[in-house]
Amino acid sequence: MTAEAAGSDPVIDVRGLVKRFGAKTVVDGFSIRVERGEIYGFLGPNGSGKTTTIRMLCGLLTPDAGEGTCLGLDIRTQSAAIKRQVGYMTQKFSFWEDLSIRENLDFVARMYGLPDRRRRVGDALDRLGLAERQAQLAGELSGGWKQRLALAACILHEPRLLLLDEPTAGVDPKARREFWDEIHALAETGLTVLVSTHYMDEAERCHQIAYLAYGKLMTHGTVDEVVAGSGLHTVAVSAPHLGRVAAELEGRPGVEMVAAFGTRLHVSGTDRAALDEALAPWAGRADVRVEPTGPTLEDVFIHLMNRSTDNFR
Ligand code: ADP
Repeated sequence: MTAEAAGSDPVIDVRGLVKRFGAKTVVDGFSIRVERGEIYGFLGPNGSGKTTTIRMLCGLLTPDAGEGTCLGLDIRTQSAAIKRQVGYMTQKFSFWEDLSIRENLDFVARMYGLPDRRRRVGDALDRLGLAERQAQLAGELSGGWKQRLALAACILHEPRLLLLDEPTAGVDPKARREFWDEIHALAETGLTVLVSTHYMDEAERCHQIAYLAYGKLMTHGTVDEVVAGSGLHTVAVSAPHLGRVAAELEGRPGVEMVAAFGTRLHVSGTDRAALDEALAPWAGRADVRVEPTGPTLEDVFIHLMNRSTDNFR
């Protein structure tokens, strides 16, 4: 996205969204702005309200409170018009296994009564690199190619906004990477993408991310902004008997998290001085290396999750 486009053309602009199911408030005062062509990632533990939020943003679900627009239309009163411009890929997509890729797409286009079917199917095949395989049976495709076919089916009606609900769950890392290359290519053409995910590598490929816990927006921004804004300090410790070191560090004042990353421990806390003090017994040892490192996105998310659990109690 160009700097010029940023800030000038919000595709989504909502304030104070609330959704309750029975007595439970599953989304609590959610506000966000999303610019055209942005890939916006939604992260957070299961049940934190990601899907409910995404569905409210695009008119699939009416909020109990709050207001705003999606694609310039009111999310409360113009949801039908919004929905027509949204492509929604859920985890549970299905195909006719004994039809080819092209036949499946043609079937979807017919089902939705789309005009200009031949061109649309051709465009979707081209845009997602499926043209060469168009005659292949859907039932014979690997997980990654099935995902692509699902994405192609979602863009047949030429939506302006794409919702991807954990689109690559269970797909291997290489296929996931290629799928994300496709998402970036679509975003380059001006399509805006909201995507929920649990994968850190996917979060890192979003232009912006939002982290939700217990229905609350805990943080949002670019990955760098979210990491910098966490207030978390992380120190990497390399030592023999890492498990023992970890056990001794757990629960010390200043140590909020200890996690093994390969041959190193990431030891994190929000109070830098207290963290250094907790690590002091190891810092001077010849067989131990203690060095500050940036927290990873995962460190930050686990920190936020721990904090939100505390708030909840
Ligand atoms: P996430 O996508 O982060 O896993 P969801 O938005 O799916 O979270 O769900 C948030 C909470 O709302 C969960 O506790 C879920 O059980 C509840 N929930 C979602 N949809 C409904 C519904 N239609 N009726 C009742 N409860 C629901």
